[in-house]
Amino acid sequence: MKGVTVITHPLVQHNLTRLRDQRTQPQEFRRLLGEIASLMLYEATRNFAVRPVSTRTPLAVTRGFHLKREVVLVPVLRAGLGMLDSILQLIPNARVGFIGLKREETTLRAQFYHKSLPKNLGRFEVILIDPMLATGGSAVAAMDLLAGQGAKHVRLVNLVAAPEGIRRVRKSHPKLPIFTAAVDRGLNDRGYILPGLGDAGDRLFGT
Ligand code: URA
Repeated sequence: MKGVTVITHPLVQHNLTRLRDQRTQPQEFRRLLGEIASLMLYEATRNFAVRPVSTRTPLAVTRGFHLKREVVLVPVLRAGLGMLDSILQLIPNARVGFIGLKREETTLRAQFYHKSLPKNLGRFEVILIDPMLATGGSAVAAMDLLAGQGAKHVRLVNLVAAPEGIRRVRKSHPKLPIFTAAVDRGLNDRGYILPGLGDAGDRLFGT
């Protein structure tokens, strides 16, 4: 699928399979989700823009690279929190914004209950973190908000995506790159991904 990178690395797939397992308890779920997030981040940031710099080693001057833009991580609450800490370990100077969205149970529409984002989003690389791309409602609402606040360099990191969600995101934001560990079969009538892994927030926090 155009614009969608499925991260097939064996360690990612190994961890994903353990996350899917209904016997995996919250403590283990948190650890696995953190590990998978670090592994996925390598792939998701592979084409980050860099700028050449000159640096002096103890022996000589050499050329190197720095990231061109600062990074903002934007987890969608709650489940996005499960991927945040381990990504911050890898990009410790990243800023963190938050988007709180809940699904209205009957219409499955995404509703904001919290937003906090850095100003001047256009100058940052923004990583939108939303583990489950189901109907696409939350991802589109979050992306609309980011674009409305001037974000220009955004990528979406999911763990599991449904084809319906991918289509919806592609339709509203055709240029948004999507990184996921799996594209699953589809949605059930309650908007859950099949086979999926259940409610990521509940499994993460034991609710
Ligand atoms: N959110 C989840 O946590 N799981 C799904 O399957 C769909 C949305």
